[in-house]
Amino acid sequence: MIISRQKPFPEILAALQQTPRVFLVGCAKCATVCKSGGEEEVWQMQEALSAAGKEVSGSLIIDEACHMLRAGRDLRGKKEQVEEADALLVLACGAGVQSIAAASAKITVSGTDTLFLGNIRRFGQFEQRCSLCGNCLLTETAGICPVTLCPKGVLNGPCGGMDNGRCEVDAEAECAWFQIYELLKSQSRLERLATITPPKDFARMLKPGKLKIEK
Ligand code: SF4
Ligand code: SF4
Repeated sequence: MIISRQKPFPEILAALQQTPRVFLVGCAKCATVCKSGGEEEVWQMQEALSAAGKEVSGSLIIDEACHMLRAGRDLRGKKEQVEEADALLVLACGAGVQSIAAASAKITVSGTDTLFLGNIRRFGQFEQRCSLCGNCLLTETAGICPVTLCPKGVLNGPCGGMDNGRCEVDAEAECAWFQIYELLKSQSRLERLATITPPKDFARMLKPGKLKIEK
């Protein structure tokens, strides 16, 4: 899921300085789980904005704010409230904010910072395990991503700084390559470490990414 965090309220308020009337948009998926833009956070934002002297013309929680057709359709369903607003404050990931910006000519304000693609460790605890490199190595690395979990992104590790299985960049963390070694060993696949992984093809990470599934 996409991990996002709500911006500090003074920052949001500053972005809304020229816009007295605001319509709020949240997302029922990732932003709800991250508590950056679910129903509760939208309601709290409405209270906070009202207390700060803003007029909130209405609000909407879109099932998946990143779904452009759905975002457009849901906004049209609230046409009058949206029309009354000077700006749309969106509490969703960057993809969701851009769905709204594409669907409306109103000023769009992002109320969140989008951080990473994350795994959910447990409620309220998220971890980055994939950096979306476009050329997955996990089959070769025992399911542990060195591109993400090694701070240097070393593809043929470990680096010379590993100390007793600990990472030289973060002594609290286990070296990603130590973990890979231990797992490959337990799977009797240590010969894999004799194969040099070539440098990453960064062309596979070209932005903006696009994928069209042909049937
Ligand atoms: S190698 Fe790592 S960053 Fe690349 S796709 Fe696989 S998990 Fe993601
Ligand atoms: S100690 Fe391991 S995880 Fe840390 S930078 Fe070196 S190879 Fe990467």
